Amino acid sequence: MTLVDSPEKQVSLHEQAVRQFHEAAEIMDLNPDYRAILAHPKNEVIVNFPVRMDTGEYRSFRGYRIQHNNLLGPYKGGIRFSPHVDLDEVKALATWMTWKSALCDVPFGGGKGGIAFDPREHSQSELERIVRRFTHALGSNIGPDHDIPAPDLGSNAQTMVWMMDTYANSTAAANRQSVKGVVTGKPIESGGSLGREKATGQGVLFSLQHWCDETNTDFSGLRVAIQGYGNVGSNVGRLFEVYGATIVSVADHTGAVIAPDGLSAFELADHVAETGGVVDFAGATNCSADDFWSADVDVLVPGALENQITLANVDQIQARVIVEAANGPTTPAAEEQFLAGGGEVLPDILVNAGGVVVSYFEWLQNKSAQPWTLDVVDNKLRDVLLGAADRTVVAKGNHGCSRRNAAYIVALEKLERVYDQRGIFP
Ligand code: GLU
Repeated sequence: MTLVDSPEKQVSLHEQAVRQFHEAAEIMDLNPDYRAILAHPKNEVIVNFPVRMDTGEYRSFRGYRIQHNNLLGPYKGGIRFSPHVDLDEVKALATWMTWKSALCDVPFGGGKGGIAFDPREHSQSELERIVRRFTHALGSNIGPDHDIPAPDLGSNAQTMVWMMDTYANSTAAANRQSVKGVVTGKPIESGGSLGREKATGQGVLFSLQHWCDETNTDFSGLRVAIQGYGNVGSNVGRLFEVYGATIVSVADHTGAVIAPDGLSAFELADHVAETGGVVDFAGATNCSADDFWSADVDVLVPGALENQITLANVDQIQARVIVEAANGPTTPAAEEQFLAGGGEVLPDILVNAGGVVVSYFEWLQNKSAQPWTLDVVDNKLRDVLLGAADRTVVAKGNHGCSRRNAAYIVALEKLERVYDQRGIFP
């Protein structure tokens, strides 16, 4: 379990997520019964399953699927493959998914899953067996109208198609074609959506453009640092570059690079695809973590793991705005300090919701068996995210609170209205 800094004591990621929730619930005076329900996941599924390795030996894996809430629709959220995955982390991530969907008016609930292992240490055939065996172990805990996984850190479109195929083959023969929507983020040919791969990055772009309009800032004049250059970070880099921003520094698990006059996000993406990380990129200079955090930029985009911006580095940050492309990248104490210094934080549940929004579009396309064009996907995503950002700004004004609390309040007000209408069973 990762513990994060807090002025009083160290708290776990899930405790941190629950505290954020209570803070917003307090401001908007959320009904205490709903507050009690939403403070915990509804279901916590843990599976231990054996997988045959290429050597012929069997290894046991532990997988999770946390179903936080399904008031607004099926549980929804990614599957994370990383050695750090544990129950606490997946609970926090599942909780954040509920708020993301509610904030964006997407008819999904919140869920998250994962397996505690490093996918980089396995061959493709081992990975396939791990994914298929995990899907089988989850059994009817997932389903196209019940709980719908998607890619997250360490998983990808290939993971999803293995999950979909395994699920379909455990379904009655006559129903196999109708269960494609059991996962989203699939390859296009296997029922995926155009624009899903870049959707989170695209949403980060729309969120920052919205903030630029709100604050009369010229997007094309922005200097940017990005942490993480996987799916999210590399799409952020390339999209930001297309819209004229200058990418100054990028860090990932291999190290960091800096180019004070700007680097090519496209060439860096090619370098990462070839070498597995950002270090030794010819278009920039290798630099230290301190150089990365203190880079002379306007915008910092954490796009990797949680708890990256902490009391230990927040004072180094030169950026005016932190754009949370990752989930939970800023600890509460660091956020408080950054805001007190006049900085702005665009919160994760708004900024990185592009992934789940386009997952919803994929699910709709699967249900109707009708593909959408990329323009339709991008335009609808823009409408959804700008609408959510508008509602957040209004709530911020009404409650005189932080942008994160405002985004939570929009989500919680929606959930409260639906609980009021439906009541609590029985
Ligand atoms: N893993 C992504 C997230 O954290 C996408 C989830 C989804 O598409 O369901 O938001």
